[in-house]
Amino acid sequence: MSQESSSNAASSSALASTNFIRNIIESELAAGKHAARRWSGRPGPAAQQLAGALDPAKIRTRFPPEPNGYLHFGHAKSICLNFGLAQDYGGRCHLRFDDTNPEKEEQEYVDSIVDSVRWLGFSWEEPASEALPEGECNLYFASNYFDWMVEFAEYLIASGHAYVESQSAEQMRASRGTLTEGGSESPFRERSVEENLDLFKRMQRGEFPDGAHVLRAKIDMGSANINLRDPAIYRIRHASHHNTGDRWCVYPMYTYAHPIEDALENITHSICTLEFADQRPFYDWLLERLAEGGLLQRPLPQQIEFSRLNLSYIVLSKRKLIQLVDEKHVAGWDDPRLPTLVGARRRGYPAAGFRLFAERIGVSRSDSLIEYSLLEDTMREVLNESAERRIAVLDPLRLIIDNYPAGESEDCFAPNHPLKPELGKRAMPFGGELWIEREDFMAQPSKGYHRLYPGNMARLRHGFVVKCTGFDVDDSGVVSAVHCDYLPDSKSGTPGADTYKVKGNLHWVSAAHACRAEVRLYDRLFAVPSPGARREGDPEDLERDFRDDLNPHSMQVIAAWLEPALKNARAEECFQFERHGYFVADRIDSRAGAPVFNRTVTLRDVWSSKPGAKK
Ligand code: ATP
Ligand code: MG
Repeated sequence: MSQESSSNAASSSALASTNFIRNIIESELAAGKHAARRWSGRPGPAAQQLAGALDPAKIRTRFPPEPNGYLHFGHAKSICLNFGLAQDYGGRCHLRFDDTNPEKEEQEYVDSIVDSVRWLGFSWEEPASEALPEGECNLYFASNYFDWMVEFAEYLIASGHAYVESQSAEQMRASRGTLTEGGSESPFRERSVEENLDLFKRMQRGEFPDGAHVLRAKIDMGSANINLRDPAIYRIRHASHHNTGDRWCVYPMYTYAHPIEDALENITHSICTLEFADQRPFYDWLLERLAEGGLLQRPLPQQIEFSRLNLSYIVLSKRKLIQLVDEKHVAGWDDPRLPTLVGARRRGYPAAGFRLFAERIGVSRSDSLIEYSLLEDTMREVLNESAERRIAVLDPLRLIIDNYPAGESEDCFAPNHPLKPELGKRAMPFGGELWIEREDFMAQPSKGYHRLYPGNMARLRHGFVVKCTGFDVDDSGVVSAVHCDYLPDSKSGTPGADTYKVKGNLHWVSAAHACRAEVRLYDRLFAVPSPGARREGDPEDLERDFRDDLNPHSMQVIAAWLEPALKNARAEECFQFERHGYFVADRIDSRAGAPVFNRTVTLRDVWSSKPGAKK
């Protein structure tokens, strides 16, 4: 599916509510700003290659992950925003790996990020067609621009805008000043252009150890904005890079590399999270200098900040997620309890749910904490539409129908989707021994209990009305079976069905036909809304760690009885198990004939009523 041909999966236009970024784009379009845009890189053999492939008069956004971890729910917000804007304005969104730091980046992360963005319903290929023989493939790696970044750095040196610093990191820190006081100039600040160029070349040739020198932009040590006090732009790192191998031993700093990546790719709107607002003056300074020097053409990309997604009951910091995986609090990056996109997929959260969620939470510049239940409600809403209904008994108790003909069975019919009669009905075998939920029987009923108890009648959903005649207990006094008689003329869908008025309506599966399966009941990974936050009024709570708030009941594995239609469920198929919630056949462990199901979400929110929960 391409960005432009996608119809339902990733199309947000139908829902698109306005936001401040859309407003900016609308007013620019009205002023004709983007029609005049041209590719902005200086022509060179490689530059022309990139330039030729990029249609200049388009809105261009980018999603720029660093391949040093798996994508999480916060990234989904950024992906939906960037790809969504490009779609809405007939533009393009680039998937660009911001792989300028050789130490933490790995191919495994690159692959998983590509998969997750595709899974969310977005893509970066233009379909090859006659009308468009040379379609764009908007997948980029920042590390492919290292040659240009070095060339641009040499230009900055030559034009007096950068110098080689030979103080230690410690000394640089000490002279940087504070938030309230300016910094002091480096003794190396006035090196000649020749000396600087020579040193930078030698840095590139590997003549110096890590940390011996850095290249700094020459801006203003007295600036009120600490980011403009001669920030480092290149450092020495004798490290192998996942893409460029051992070719380089100098690597650009993120704040230097990022604006250049945007400009080379003709990005119109470089959308990032709020913490980069203080970096914007440097972003603009750098691109202005390069444009002045004729290395880039105007109009230049503009950086726009929005507030990041924060969700209650989870953590979204990469560092913390890595800790949870490394310390084995979860089973891996795709553990269904983790707020990673690979985890969400395994959990059964539909990609459409993330797109709808992104639309609902909107985009703004003010920080906020979104209730986790909003995400869950959105997932329920999507699943309610898409998931077929099935029956599963999770906590089984045997129901024996003493007056049912021994050894016989018959079919009952249950609708696959109450909202979509066109999906038809399926047969559910009924027989003399069934499994029902343990909670659907009480030897001594409490007030208002309408399900099975001795002497009471209840309907077996889509089947017959039964009357409870007694029960068996095992040696420890636990109920081991319930006995009843069925009313042969009460079958659902027959004229007799309405003659019996009963209040209880139970689900069941036939013991002779049901399929035994592993079911994993997942719940929230953390037990409190703000993991690691100090508890109010508890002075002893200084050392609180987010791991102290892990929910000990976040996973329970059970053996359940499923109706036979579930036996051959395909991996990733989602169902509503009636009365229980939404479940998905695990994409790794489930097999046709031996399904394994994960609980995606319960039918109703049980968390907002818990003590300590915020509503
Ligand atoms: P770090 O920089 O600490 O490694 P990161 O979460 O910023 O972590 P990146 O790979 O740099 O990871 O993020 C890619 C993009 O996703 C960035 O543009 C970033 O702004 C955006 N992003 C990251 N976290 C969130 C979030 N919680 N909400 C919205 N966007 C986010
Ligand atoms: Mg980042």
